[in-house]
Amino acid sequence: MYGAGDVRIDNVPDAGLVEPTDALLRVTRACICGSDLWPYNQMEHSETGQRMGHEFIGVVEAAGAEVRSVKPGDLVVAPFAWSDGTCDFCREGLHTSCLNGGWWARNGIDGGQGDAVRVPQADGTLVVLPVGPDDALMPSLLTLSDVMGTGHHAALAARVAPGKTAAVVGDGAVGLCGVIAAKRLGAEQIILLGRHPDRIALARDFGATDVVRERGDEAVERVRELTGGFGAHSVLECVGHGESMVTALGIARPGGAVGRVGLPQHEPIPTTMRTFFDNVTIGGGPAPARAYIEELLPDVLEGRIEPGRVFDRVTNLDGVPDGYRAMNEREAIKVLVEL
Ligand SMILES: [Zn+2]
Repeated sequence: MYGAGDVRIDNVPDAGLVEPTDALLRVTRACICGSDLWPYNQMEHSETGQRMGHEFIGVVEAAGAEVRSVKPGDLVVAPFAWSDGTCDFCREGLHTSCLNGGWWARNGIDGGQGDAVRVPQADGTLVVLPVGPDDALMPSLLTLSDVMGTGHHAALAARVAPGKTAAVVGDGAVGLCGVIAAKRLGAEQIILLGRHPDRIALARDFGATDVVRERGDEAVERVRELTGGFGAHSVLECVGHGESMVTALGIARPGGAVGRVGLPQHEPIPTTMRTFFDNVTIGGGPAPARAYIEELLPDVLEGRIEPGRVFDRVTNLDGVPDGYRAMNEREAIKVLVEL
């Protein structure tokens, strides 16, 4: 990406092994993320450009001398952050705070929207998939790199529990995966706040019991009506706008919890006094997707959840710039890239 609205397919130096803990991956599936749209709308022009992509599946082409858990020929999924799997935070399941980890497409690390990626800390980062590279489950498996893990993280941070009420703010791919996660964790009533008919239909398939199309104060009012006047036990904030955070906090019932996974576009957390006096817990952050892959993988493999349905468009590498456009104009929910 060279600036807002300026996505190009370029030839770059070949990826290769550098450290003995690296693996070299040939990417077979990648995708465009809702968070990629922030720079797509706001990035200042750059002469050198910025690598893009943090969700991908690929085949291991080569592995460094110290790599033990993957070998050439393995099909693997990469979470959206790389991590060593052994530091204090990784052992606590918070891989996004890894002391020896980092982010794709930053600081000289390859991005996933490309043919090949050097994977640092391969043992801690990659998870082998027990299927072939063209398996029909590929879209759902790819969501384990980010959106399904992120929806799950929102649900955990919002303390979704059996028999409780969950509200999901946002009908993007993460919000839709949040509906799947809330259902999977036993929520009885699942309210989606969104307004796009195609996304609402998918949310209902995934388990949403109610839909609120209003925004702002009207949305808060509507959710209260649907929850006996109190609000939801659990609120999954899957957008990141100041406005959506105000709504999320406004629909949490006293003693409830808000799990925020939308990248915050505003520094302050609003409505401090109300959430203080209502004992509302505010949690969340970047999902440690790596920590959740093993837990969610069996549900995908056995067909209990189908998060891959959030992909409603497939393209190839040359189609990536138009994929950004389509997602930005809300023509597509999420674009899958086949390489
Ligand atoms: Zn670590």
